[in-house]
Amino acid sequence: MALVVQKYGGTSVGTVEKIRNVARRVARTYDEGNDVIVVVSAMAGETDKLVGLANEMCEFPNEREYDVLVASGEQVSISLLSMCLQSMGYKAKSYLGWQIPIYTDSAHSTARIKEIRDGNIREDLRSGSIVVVAGFQGIDQDGNIATLGRGGSDTSAVAVAAALKADVCEIYTDVDGIYTTDPRMVSDATKVEKISYDEMLEMASLGAKVLQIRSVEFAKKYDVVIHVRSSFNDNQGTLVMKEDADMETVLVSGIAYNKNEAKISVLKVPDTPGIAAELFSPLSEANITVDMIIQNVSHDGLTDMTFTVPRTDFKKALKIVGESANKIGAEKVISNEAIAKVSIIGVGMRSHSGIASKMFSTLAGEGVNIQMISTSEIKVSCIIDDKYTELAVRVLHDAFELGQIEVKEEDI
Ligand code: ADP
Ligand code: ASP
Ligand code: MG
Repeated sequence: MALVVQKYGGTSVGTVEKIRNVARRVARTYDEGNDVIVVVSAMAGETDKLVGLANEMCEFPNEREYDVLVASGEQVSISLLSMCLQSMGYKAKSYLGWQIPIYTDSAHSTARIKEIRDGNIREDLRSGSIVVVAGFQGIDQDGNIATLGRGGSDTSAVAVAAALKADVCEIYTDVDGIYTTDPRMVSDATKVEKISYDEMLEMASLGAKVLQIRSVEFAKKYDVVIHVRSSFNDNQGTLVMKEDADMETVLVSGIAYNKNEAKISVLKVPDTPGIAAELFSPLSEANITVDMIIQNVSHDGLTDMTFTVPRTDFKKALKIVGESANKIGAEKVISNEAIAKVSIIGVGMRSHSGIASKMFSTLAGEGVNIQMISTSEIKVSCIIDDKYTELAVRVLHDAFELGQIEVKEEDI
């Protein structure tokens, strides 16, 4: 008998019929003799709808109330799934984050899980119940509801698996594993059997929204093997796990893209000590994560600073940067929302040269201009005009030979 944590994403619980499908899968796992904790997201589209309502109500919604609102989507799906399981004759009980409780910090809409008290859940499991947990949410030390950032149910699931030392952590979604790139964009993307935590972390931070970044951080920290699979079939999915020797042999294991960034440039900033801190501290105080940063060589004591922020925080960031730019005497602030980041990822890059230049020449060959570049040991990212995203992903996928290997008749 094992303790199994299964997480079902929005598309897997998007309709009443799909929730029935999830209930059948959960029941099957239970019938096989396992203890089962199910973590669910809101029904597909519901969180977007709630975010839309908040933005319609006011330009900068109060953060506490925003979380009260957007966390409500999961309340619907946990209760529906529990009802369904009960109607099938199973004992099931739903839990909101605060009922467990899952304690977080107070960074509304990007909260981090600090502690999970497992007493209630353990008691239910002991009494033969299936436990259904609302993903994406917890409470801070003052009792306020806090949400974990978009896609946060993945993190809830991995955190629950880590806290309860589960034997299995399965993330069920609408694709049957991790692919070399988004299978919805490139039809010959290939499913990978296993991927290291570090590669998955890069993939997730570079835009592959199949897993939330923090869920992978958590998994790495607590050694949780994540099995990403489809809720619509029984195919073996992809294991996200510790790096092993085979993984090093692949130079580029995936391509990711992110259209959710915007670029801000502060022009003619006095090039003196402390300027970067003056610009970026207020952004971090507002919980806005700055991604790529480029500072140009200075001329006549003045320099330009360009950086990217999540597009969802763009308006807020622009307001804050405008105020800081005034304070430090910069000439002006310009911005561009129509950008995308395209990245190649692979642990094999550590030990091979020429990968970045191949990426640049492949993009150049298609006339795609590179606006910013950033690298780490295992990734290279380029900011480009967002209208070329799909083209860039396709040509890079081909250039690094990530497509499915065609089996020719003479090979059979
Ligand atoms: P869920 O609602 O189950 O949380 P998400 O929409 O958050 O699902 O994540 C699944 C989606 O991630 C897939 O439909 C796919 O389009 C996208 N995706 C992006 N990059 C990849 C990748 N490399 N491999 C698999 N899926 C990917
Ligand atoms: N419902 C939340 C979202 O849409 C959390 C999740 O689905 O993981 O972002
Ligand atoms: Mg998701």
